[in-house]
Amino acid sequence: MAVSLSRRALGLGLSALALPVAAQGARAASSPSPAGPVPLAQIKVGRFTVTALADGHADMPYTYFPGRTPEQVEAAAKAQFTARPSGVRFVFNQYLVEDGTSRVLIDAGPAGTIGQTGLLPAALAARNLRPDQIDAVIVTHMHQDHLGGLVAGGKRTFPNAEVYVDRRDVAHWTDPAKQAGAPDYLQTSFRLSSDLVRLYPRLQATQGDHQIARGVSLVDLTGHTPGHIGVRIEDGSESLIMVSDMLFPVVHPSLGTDVNFLFEQDRPAAHAMRARFFPRAAEAGSLIAATHMPFPGLGRIVAEGGRLRWAPADWAYQD
Ligand SMILES: [Zn+2]
Repeated sequence: MAVSLSRRALGLGLSALALPVAAQGARAASSPSPAGPVPLAQIKVGRFTVTALADGHADMPYTYFPGRTPEQVEAAAKAQFTARPSGVRFVFNQYLVEDGTSRVLIDAGPAGTIGQTGLLPAALAARNLRPDQIDAVIVTHMHQDHLGGLVAGGKRTFPNAEVYVDRRDVAHWTDPAKQAGAPDYLQTSFRLSSDLVRLYPRLQATQGDHQIARGVSLVDLTGHTPGHIGVRIEDGSESLIMVSDMLFPVVHPSLGTDVNFLFEQDRPAAHAMRARFFPRAAEAGSLIAATHMPFPGLGRIVAEGGRLRWAPADWAYQD
């Protein structure tokens, strides 16, 4: 795996100075200004360049992890030196996949609907990219923190993009009966899902495993939502699997596959998804990208003394 620090990341001083002006028009008025340089990390996967971008972050209360008590989750955060009074910090990572002919974005962040977010347009601008230069957006599932950026401000923010989303999620999140029976904290996801279907007539509703381009495949990871998918990037012997909400910081993989998250509507299915994936990924040493892990969300599940842990991947200075 050839991995290198982005030249743009090295030039962050200049990028950061340019950002507030360059990105102002693209950000919603309610979005925060970048507090500092926009983080960028870049790795090579065969012929693909994968750039980690971040829309921002939000803290999830310790009570949001069914399967463990809030005290157990907080103790784990303390042991990892990441405990905050506000809970477990979730980053919202997105991944831009480029091979010289097309630009595919995986997820689009919450765009100001949760926490301190709305920075994806600034992150794209730091790569000298506008939203209209994105050819396709893969939506790993229809929670607001993954699709909000596609419909921010009630507009189609990626006007030239094909949108890929699993048809099981489309069916669930556009069903008025399901919406009527859902708790308040899922209502925004229902509303934004309807916006997505209305604003993107080129939406491709796929099902399960599905190759969308040479070396870019959707992977069925049903559990977190009915149509929760991952994305495998593969060229020759090199690969990366983006697993979206398979892994949450602090609790996964170390506390076990039976730790859920409040937003998971089918907890046994989410448990089964993790029970299938964690040992296999550890055995294979799979390079993983995960939405909510600390930026850039790149790492591996490592088995050590009978326990699993997250090992961040070296992504810089790998040539
Ligand atoms: Zn998520």
